[in-house]
Amino acid sequence: MDLILLGPPGAGKGTQAKKLVELTGIPQISTGDMLRAAVAAGTELGKKAKAFMDAGKLVPDEVVIGLVEERLAKPDCGGGFMLDGFPRTVPQAETLENMLGRLKRKLDHVLLLDVEDEELVKRITGRRTCGECGSIYHLVFSPPPAADTCKCGHKGLDQRADDNEKTVRERLTAYHKQTSPLIDFYGKRGLVRKVVGTNATPDDVFASAKRALRLG
Ligand code: ADP
Ligand code: ADP
Ligand code: ZN
Repeated sequence: MDLILLGPPGAGKGTQAKKLVELTGIPQISTGDMLRAAVAAGTELGKKAKAFMDAGKLVPDEVVIGLVEERLAKPDCGGGFMLDGFPRTVPQAETLENMLGRLKRKLDHVLLLDVEDEELVKRITGRRTCGECGSIYHLVFSPPPAADTCKCGHKGLDQRADDNEKTVRERLTAYHKQTSPLIDFYGKRGLVRKVVGTNATPDDVFASAKRALRLG
């Protein structure tokens, strides 16, 4: 299954991707995670990306496309992939279509997570993650088992530098302007499976997502 997770920042793409990976074994490809790793490692690419990420703006297409192209060529993507946070612009989507065409592959589904803006701001400002195992929490909606402690035992949950209210607003503007046109792009190709994520727990959303993707 070749799958895209589409939706605004904070919609629950990472949360649902983890559940889908557990169910299907298909690898999650998160461009946000890959970019943060490049920033942390101080690579040339990371240096280029950092200022854009800190400002809540999209990193230039050519930077992200190169990362994805390399990743999709890895053998573990042979049986399918789950793109999380890519594509985010029409040129990225067009490039992906060409890439997949060359590999004689086609997308099966674009899972669209639909959540309202004010809810997204609350979700993102309360998000915390585990640097050890990657678990995603929310201080109120999905709290860790004990204060500041992950279920894996790791103490000290992280808050992303760009998860503050000001940057979130920038990211939402970028989403509406540059990413939301993809709903139409993939709608025309008959690929969009929309799941409403407002007022639904992560488990509710997962149940709807499984139905939408015909996974039972
Ligand atoms: P994205 O990858 O789309 O940015 P995440 O999966 O990281 O989103 O989720 C953003 C925040 O919202 C996290 O703190 C997560 O725990 C929380 N969250 C995810 N799904 C839901 C939900 N259905 N209801 C409430 N909070 C949620
Ligand atoms: P979220 O889903 O919470 O917005 P991500 O981890 O997907 O966060 O992305 C974090 C940041 O990384 C974005 O604000 C953007 O600067 C950059 N980024 C991630 N994916 C892309 C992409 N496909 N194109 C351009 N920039 C990207
Ligand atoms: Zn952990």
